Amino acid sequence: MRSFGYTRPDSAQAAVAAFAAAGEGARYIAGGTTLYDLMKLDIERPAHLIDVTAIRGLDAIETGGDRLRFGALAPMSEVATNRTVLRDYPVLAESLAKAASQQLRNMATVGGNLFQRTRCLYFRNGAGGTSAGTTYPCNKREPGSGCAAIGGLDRGQAVLGQSASCTAVSPGDWPIALVALDAYVEILGAAGTRSLPVAELYRLPGNTPHLEFTLAPDEIVTAIVVPKTRAGRRSAYHKIRDRESYAFALASAAVALDMDNDTVRQARIALGGVATRPWRATAAEAALAGQRLTPDTAAAAGRAALTGAVPGRHNGFKIDLAQRTVADALLIAAKRTTA
Ligand code: SF4
Repeated sequence: MRSFGYTRPDSAQAAVAAFAAAGEGARYIAGGTTLYDLMKLDIERPAHLIDVTAIRGLDAIETGGDRLRFGALAPMSEVATNRTVLRDYPVLAESLAKAASQQLRNMATVGGNLFQRTRCLYFRNGAGGTSAGTTYPCNKREPGSGCAAIGGLDRGQAVLGQSASCTAVSPGDWPIALVALDAYVEILGAAGTRSLPVAELYRLPGNTPHLEFTLAPDEIVTAIVVPKTRAGRRSAYHKIRDRESYAFALASAAVALDMDNDTVRQARIALGGVATRPWRATAAEAALAGQRLTPDTAAAAGRAALTGAVPGRHNGFKIDLAQRTVADALLIAAKRTTA
């Protein structure tokens, strides 16, 4: 472990000021379930940590009015078990419940979870070298070093949004559900406050895969806001993985349906586990609008959701898997009552 400075401010404004004072190499930390892990692997090397967990009021959960608002420090476990979220937005509750073990959900925050880093095995296993002394090239970890996953073991890699520099999958579950529901984040930085759709937090890798998020370094997410929608009750997060718990998605789908009897007025669909960032499946949504939801139309939407997918050497199965995951998620959501 490398040494680092540490500050624990008691307000969001003080956190931003502390970040500016700490200078280059500062990082915010909340639950720490990703950052400490990567520090131990010597992948993250912050010079100074700004611990935001003492900021009061940043963990509030508000469900009244025309929106849900989750303070960035709200634990994943508390949002996942909130009665309104469970009843009216099962896609949110399920995306959190399936994201991690209970212990991690107690520790991790809904704000920090937006900034998980990839599980690409070459990214995580290369920094300190392997037991055989090999250090894998990884453009995300060391810009310009190359990509060991391309032409390597790519079973878990992306089939959507990848580039010639990086094929790493965006690892989140919660962000997939938020993108499907058009959620946005409230942000504070040295330049003031602003809001941003969750979908716009994430960059495609292009030729700069080390740049993953669109926030300025000093900016901090203070809250996540989900506009209320009548599609919320008929929603689901369906996650397929190698084992049923404590595993990242091979494919996942967040769906929400606004229906008139068995006809879809509007569908919201986003994919996880298969793309380099949370992936809104607009072609699938368009394919379903005005259609009766049947196993056949759900399957057609699944195929539309994977439009443009390009397999690597070992991950072609993900295309078919994700198509079926979307179709199953739609049929699960459609059976949910709105009463
Ligand atoms: Fe690194 Fe991305 Fe290649 Fe994985 S896919 S080795 S994260 S550059």
